[in-house]
Amino acid sequence: MSEMKYLRSAVFPADYPPTDRPEVAVAGRSNAGKSSFLNSIADDKGKKKVAYVSQMPGKTILLNFFDFGKHYRFVDMPGYGFAARSADEIADWSKMIETYLSTRENLKGLVLLMDLRRQWDEDEEMLKRFCNKNNIPFCVLLTKADKCKPKERFDAQKRIRQSAQIADVFLISSQTGEGVKEAETFIYREWILTSGGAR
Ligand code: GDP
Repeated sequence: MSEMKYLRSAVFPADYPPTDRPEVAVAGRSNAGKSSFLNSIADDKGKKKVAYVSQMPGKTILLNFFDFGKHYRFVDMPGYGFAARSADEIADWSKMIETYLSTRENLKGLVLLMDLRRQWDEDEEMLKRFCNKNNIPFCVLLTKADKCKPKERFDAQKRIRQSAQIADVFLISSQTGEGVKEAETFIYREWILTSGGAR
């Protein structure tokens, strides 16, 4: 695994880091397992855990940029799931996400994480729409696979493939490490290597 290095946080394009590496956006509602995934692929050598910025409750919503290894970068998007948010916060979130997705020239794909026991719903669909509109490749990682039996996992994968209408739906467990390396390899092979960002 490669080193994950926190770079900076930003809301507006003027504050994004330079476009010197391909980027992969990581999204998911709060509690989906986004931070755990980023931590599980990071070789953090005992350093402070990554993705901690998004964990602070009540803070401004931000895009958090992390260089991963030598050749690409993850962009941790703030958790969504609107039930507990005000209309103003939803508007700010949508604007920030849509601005990033529609303007970022080095963005190579978006990874959506969701708990495998959840249903695909409007929030997920909205993100998929943003991506389709901007021609951004999209995949889904179904998290917490360790919590389910093999049949339930298989059924969840099939169900989400059908409701999301996408084939690239993978099962992972940040707890056991199952599927995590494979997911990172998929991202690297499909989105980074093909864009010329060799490792
Ligand atoms: P985030 O809000 O999307 O960043 O979610 P976190 O990574 O903080 O995870 C939310 C909760 O789910 C935490 O209690 C994690 O320990 C737990 N969790 C995350 N991934 C897994 C997993 O693969 N297996 C299990 N059993 N728990 C997980």
